[in-house]
Amino acid sequence: MNKSKRLIVIDDDIQFAGLLGEIARSAGFETELCDDARDYFLANEAYSVMVLDLNMPGMDGVEVIRQLGKTAQDIHLILISGYDKGVLHSAEKLAQEHNLNVVGSLTKPLEMASFISMLNSIDIEKSFPVYLVESENSPITVAEIRQAIVNNEMELYYQPQIELRTNTLKGVEALVRWHHPTRGLITPGMFISIVEKEGLMGELTSSIINMAVNQSNEWKKTGLNITISVNVSAENITSLLLPEQLSDLIKDHGLNPQSIVLEITERALMGELKTSLDILTRLRMKGFGLSIDDFGTGNSSLVLLHRVPFTELKIDMSFVKNMDRDLDARAIVETCVMLSHKLNMDCVAEGVENESIRRGLTLMGCDIGQGYLMAKPMAASQLIEWIENNNYPISKDW
Ligand code: C2E
Ligand code: MG
Ligand code: MG
Repeated sequence: MNKSKRLIVIDDDIQFAGLLGEIARSAGFETELCDDARDYFLANEAYSVMVLDLNMPGMDGVEVIRQLGKTAQDIHLILISGYDKGVLHSAEKLAQEHNLNVVGSLTKPLEMASFISMLNSIDIEKSFPVYLVESENSPITVAEIRQAIVNNEMELYYQPQIELRTNTLKGVEALVRWHHPTRGLITPGMFISIVEKEGLMGELTSSIINMAVNQSNEWKKTGLNITISVNVSAENITSLLLPEQLSDLIKDHGLNPQSIVLEITERALMGELKTSLDILTRLRMKGFGLSIDDFGTGNSSLVLLHRVPFTELKIDMSFVKNMDRDLDARAIVETCVMLSHKLNMDCVAEGVENESIRRGLTLMGCDIGQGYLMAKPMAASQLIEWIENNNYPISKDW
């Protein structure tokens, strides 16, 4: 039997683990039980699915998640806990932050049907890119990042954004990737916080904006008129020169400012709000789109919505991803859709991972969907091929 059919249950309640094991076995998995997580790491065996209890003596589930993240394991994770849903949500979030693939979470007493449907939903052939995790021995250094910007090692990947009502391609979000000469492909989660902490965000963002504007220009020449959303950090929106610089850059390329959307997280707006407000208002006046990213995860969201002239609200993925199996998450998504429309903003849902989520969002009237169901972020050269293969018409609405 290959690794992709191997499942391990880690739970100190061995009777309960046995029950889970039986169910998994009848779903076609070769199953092992383990009542002490330390044994799992000592054995160093390969599994593709782990059913993990959070509450265990010795090494608990949270510690297991941290260890799995450190060793960048390519594993599907199902979390189980006797705690309330809040604890499971935080553990899921933590696992996602460690780039682990969380299939779902279950509370005790177990709902057998949910467990079976989770097992059946696992695409066992699907492997997840194992990204290099910042290792304790060789942490990523500021000098490396600085060098990478100069050496053009940063590349933008683009993830499609689909207008749900019409199923047309509205635009793409630009997401930075670092092609490190020895460490391999590094995702932003591994280095953006260092860039921010070390004050390099200005440099990185201006190189990203240049790349995005050049790309937009290339696409425009071939008749592809789509919006590009660029993520900006706190440091970028305290530079009073940004609106003019961006505006000049767009004019030089003969582009429409409406084709550029700047995504800002609530967290980024927590600092110098007065300066940020000045800059964001001027960006808006110049015609750029402004999106509030990861909505619902920061502080004072409603105050910001009231004060900043956002054109788009982007619901955080943690709610969207879970909305088809978590009524609370669904209620939050629905409320965000209503709120954005009341405030005349477009609503974007990120983390659209399956058809039932896409259908639910469309029924709620959410405007735009972005997620692995439609496409993962890809290099610019792949986008054209993706559009052709999927027959996506281009939206002309912006
Ligand atoms: P974000 O702006 O919220 O971007 C969305 C993230 O969710 C991307 O991760 C994307 O690959 C991922 N994603 C999209 N759809 C799905 C889905 O269906 N399922 C799952 N599990 N994930 C999905 P990525 O590219 O790793 O970026 C992570 C974060 O890093 C971004 O979150 C953004 O905050 C930051 N970032 C990325 N590029 C830049 C950049 O150029 N500048 C700045 N300042 N931050 C950036
Ligand atoms: Mg974003
Ligand atoms: Mg986001």
